[in-house]
Amino acid sequence: MAPRSVILDRNFMNKYDRNLVASLAVAENEEQLINQDKRIIVKTCTYCKRMAPVTLRSCKLCKAARYCDEQCQRADYRTNHRRVCAEFVNPPRTRAFRTHLIGPEEYAHSPIFAQGDKDGLGVWISTGNKVGCEAQKLSKNLVPLKNGDPGYTARVNTILDQPKELHRASKQDLTTLHVCLQNRRKDGVPILVFGAGTQLVTYASSTRVALRGQVDSQDNITTFIRNGNELAAIGVVKDPWTQAPRVHVVHINGKSANLPPYPSVLKDPTEAIVALHPGDYAVMSLQFRTGDGKTITKDWQAFKLLDHVIIPFMKWDGTSRPETLASSLPPAYTLPDISASKTLKAKYVVASFNQSAIWKHYWDAIKHGDDVFLRTHNGDVHAAMNSSMTRAQEALTEATLRLVDLPESERNEEWCDKMKSSLAGLL
Ligand SMILES: [Zn+2]
Ligand SMILES: [Zn+2]
Repeated sequence: MAPRSVILDRNFMNKYDRNLVASLAVAENEEQLINQDKRIIVKTCTYCKRMAPVTLRSCKLCKAARYCDEQCQRADYRTNHRRVCAEFVNPPRTRAFRTHLIGPEEYAHSPIFAQGDKDGLGVWISTGNKVGCEAQKLSKNLVPLKNGDPGYTARVNTILDQPKELHRASKQDLTTLHVCLQNRRKDGVPILVFGAGTQLVTYASSTRVALRGQVDSQDNITTFIRNGNELAAIGVVKDPWTQAPRVHVVHINGKSANLPPYPSVLKDPTEAIVALHPGDYAVMSLQFRTGDGKTITKDWQAFKLLDHVIIPFMKWDGTSRPETLASSLPPAYTLPDISASKTLKAKYVVASFNQSAIWKHYWDAIKHGDDVFLRTHNGDVHAAMNSSMTRAQEALTEATLRLVDLPESERNEEWCDKMKSSLAGLL
């Protein structure tokens, strides 16, 4: 019996290709604006606002302020920067975590939704680096895979060999956090950050909604009682195929950390363990599952359920093996009270969500829907591109469903090959 064939609609794929070409042109224009902006930033004095012909030196600790000379730096430190730097007001300037507007932008690329600091470690939390506010599916790779990437074929094959898992994963929504961390310790001590140990903590009123449909083994959940309320600490979700946490260190000190050879301070890319020396900063993406994929399908719906983010770290002597230290890390919310854990080496930096910043960023989507949000935040081309992607995702889900229906013996090889090539960019 021939399988009921589901082939991604040709017309739609053509339209998708045209949108892709248009969006590349937009991206090129944006690239120019970013570079122009960078040239201005690195040459403008934070204190006297004069522009120099050369790149100015930056504050060693925050890398967010720049000065003509020691005089300007001293003057700014006395009047303003001492506080701004120590209170982690601004994240370091990096294109991987762009919190300021460039060119005609009305919305920041990485708006700050939560911020916190502890013992010289600062953290800023934003949304995943992406277009639109649709939650990401578990079936999609955290970092978009490209044909030709190492491991691409292997991953696509692994995924297609387990159609049931793929179907299940294509129904599960993830919240992606884009996180920037920086060491601003004045004593020179390096800090080890354990990205995969991050937890999201719910509001008492939203714990039940956040836990709907959760699978404990996969979703890494701890529930605990505080002030008589049940709260949930949701850990980083595991990839169903590799069992690895869905974490990805994107940039370190402004340089891409996507592929090997990794910078030496990235101690473990799979667990997102990074050693930050004073002034060093890292940007990472982390994924969590909140809700059941039916009631919580947008990023903003998930953010509304969350009170704070908690990230484990410790001072590092520079010699202990980071992997060993990571394995001794107690999950934050299995302890009766983290503030009582003075004897433990591990500390936790907490960043509370600023619901009004989240509301402000997603206002268009909440009031007028995704299309309006896409246009105001990303422009028409990206809006068209995104609706094509959504349709492609739907087609993929449908195709997977059919594949699941078929006994293995009846799977048509040609059909499977077509599926695999269609999967480029979708997984
Ligand atoms: Zn100056
Ligand atoms: Zn500074």
